[in-house]
Parts: sequence; structure tokens; C-alpha cells
Amino acid sequence: MAGEPQADCLFCKIVSGDVPATVVRETETTVAFRDINPQAPTHVLVIPKVHHPDAAALAAAEPAILADVVREAGEVAREEKVDGTGYRIVFNTGSGAGQTVFHAHAHVLGGRGLQWPPG
Ligand code: 5GP
Repeated sequence: MAGEPQADCLFCKIVSGDVPATVVRETETTVAFRDINPQAPTHVLVIPKVHHPDAAALAAAEPAILADVVREAGEVAREEKVDGTGYRIVFNTGSGAGQTVFHAHAHVLGGRGLQWPPG
């Protein structure tokens, strides 16, 4: 059923605590933790606790929780003190765009110059 934990999903296992992560924030609906392979001085992933394969699927099924993810991304940026200089919220969607974990997640990237367009 949509939103239910998936046994083979890495991020569902982080939500359940079966896979460890460096958690920086948690709410009733979201978890934020440091990316294992950071691409910037601040690189935090914000995920919904419910399982949806990408941000668009989350938006279609549970839009309020996507709003929670984006608000938490802003809170992470504020706590990491990258909000003043600017930061990026990225939702890679589809393998062609670099998505490797098919549980919706926002990357929060900051603490260095960020080029546009992204690669
Ligand atoms: P995607 O490529 O799907 O947009 O982002 C997935 C992210 O998850 C990558 O940036 C990758 O480094 C990160 N990641 C993959 N496995 C783990 C893990 O076990 N722990 C943490 N904290 N991050 C992970």
C-alpha cells in the first residue's frame, strides 16, 4: 500500500533505526540526516517517514508531508547556518537525473559556491 514501509528500502530502514544514520532533526513526519557521501560542507537529506518513490509521488499522495519535508529543509539550513549565504534543495527524480534511492528525499546542500546550471 502507498506510504507503507518497504522491506528492501534503505531509507525506510533508516526511519526504523535498522540502519544507523547521523540524524540532525526529526519530526512526527520527517527525518533529516547527514549524507554518507557529502558533496558540500553541509549535505543533509530530509526524508518523509512514509515511503513514496520520489517527490512527485509524495506530492500526489500526501502533499502536506512534502510541505513538511521542504520546511524541514529550511530548518536544517538555518541550523547549519547556510541560510544567509544561500543553499540548494534538490530532489533528484529518476535514475537519469541521478536518483539512486527510490524513497523521496530532499538534498540540502550549502557551505560552498553552487554552480548554475547544475551538472
Ligand atoms: P539520490 O542519488 O537518490 O538523489 O540520493 C541518495 C543519497 O543517499 C546519495 O547522496 C547517497 O550518498 C546517500 N546515501 C546512500 N546510502 C546512504 C546511507 O547508507 N546512509 C546515508 N546517510 N546516506 C546514504
